Amino acid sequence: MASVKVCVRLRPLNRREKASTSNHIPVVTTNTSQSSVTIVKGLGAKSVQHNYSVDQVFGSFSEQEEVFTNAVLPVVTQVLQGYESTVFAYGQTGTGKTYTMEGDVTSEQHMGVIPRSCLEIFSKLAKQDKYVASKVSCSYLEIYNEELSDLLVDETTNKKLRVCTTSKGSGGRVVCMGLSSRTVTSAQEVIDVLNEARERRQIGETKMNKQSSRSHCLFTLQVESTEVVEGGQIERIGKLHLVDLAGSECAKSTGASAGSSRMRESQNINKSLLTLGRVISTLKNGNGRVPYRDSKLTRLLQEALGGRCKTLIIATLSPSILSIEESLSTMSYAEQAHGQCVKGGGGGGGGGCSGGGCRRAIGLTTKLFVPFFFF
Ligand code: ADP
Ligand code: MG
Repeated sequence: MASVKVCVRLRPLNRREKASTSNHIPVVTTNTSQSSVTIVKGLGAKSVQHNYSVDQVFGSFSEQEEVFTNAVLPVVTQVLQGYESTVFAYGQTGTGKTYTMEGDVTSEQHMGVIPRSCLEIFSKLAKQDKYVASKVSCSYLEIYNEELSDLLVDETTNKKLRVCTTSKGSGGRVVCMGLSSRTVTSAQEVIDVLNEARERRQIGETKMNKQSSRSHCLFTLQVESTEVVEGGQIERIGKLHLVDLAGSECAKSTGASAGSSRMRESQNINKSLLTLGRVISTLKNGNGRVPYRDSKLTRLLQEALGGRCKTLIIATLSPSILSIEESLSTMSYAEQAHGQCVKGGGGGGGGGCSGGGCRRAIGLTTKLFVPFFFF
């Protein structure tokens, strides 16, 4: 059994929200000790209070360090033990998804989940003498309009990426064919990779007139380690997928004319975010076909959502009345995923783990083959 954990992070009011005299009172409040969120809609006697409860709540003054240590660190620790885990940032554009996932990589205080996870992984691998060998590699994929692009290579060398399932003999795994992988040896190298990818993404945005809020970004770290134990060695392969999802408001098609490219974008975003929600709930209920194949996002993460994996969703919110409808919608998505215990199996490719553990390459002097272009 794997679990889905849902956190909510509220950001502070921004300058624009504060500047508006009628809008400067927060309509979203958090209770960290009770892990609850309250959204008040309307004024006075006509106001309606919506209460939600999730696994963890971070208030508007929460620090990056606090979010990482309390919500993400347990997931990273499991990756070092050979688990495959995913952290999603879900929410409306401007609510802090990228701040939470990436943040300011040059600042110790403001760096987000990706640089912190790397620092943690490299420091653990360096500190523990039990590891005789280790290798960390990363890949960075953007999904825009159901099309994939590799953020680690230039457009000219960007091969057509394809999602496919390997033959049964090769493990029957879902892979992203053509996706490059970069070996990294320090957190600084990962930060360099992030900066490079950000530039590449910005160039692509200008060229294609697209907005970053309309694509999903999947950063994956693969951690391979070899530990010496009495009588042999244990090799583990853990994976950490860190996903900055497209803005949830982009799933709405309001304002876009039928057949327009904006409408197509919206439909694709809608499909992938809804499919992600459905995959989680189908796995939880343990019945019916798990609709992984209904979107590229869920198909790519097929093996990371389910039996042997941990999933963390960080839903981000603005406290402002200007975003109240989006906040209500984000909280209903978060609440749906909350508390759901995902049952194993469910159509995922390839075996390897069972029961509560996600250790993949367990067994003395066992080697586990993992295709190079994995996801
Ligand atoms: P998103 O990726 O969801 O569109 P961003 O991460 O880009 O949103 O955040 C929008 C703005 O709000 C950025 O300027 C960011 O620095 C700021 N911000 C977001 N979350 C926080 C937070 N928790 N504390 C302080 N500033 C934040
Ligand atoms: Mg963003």
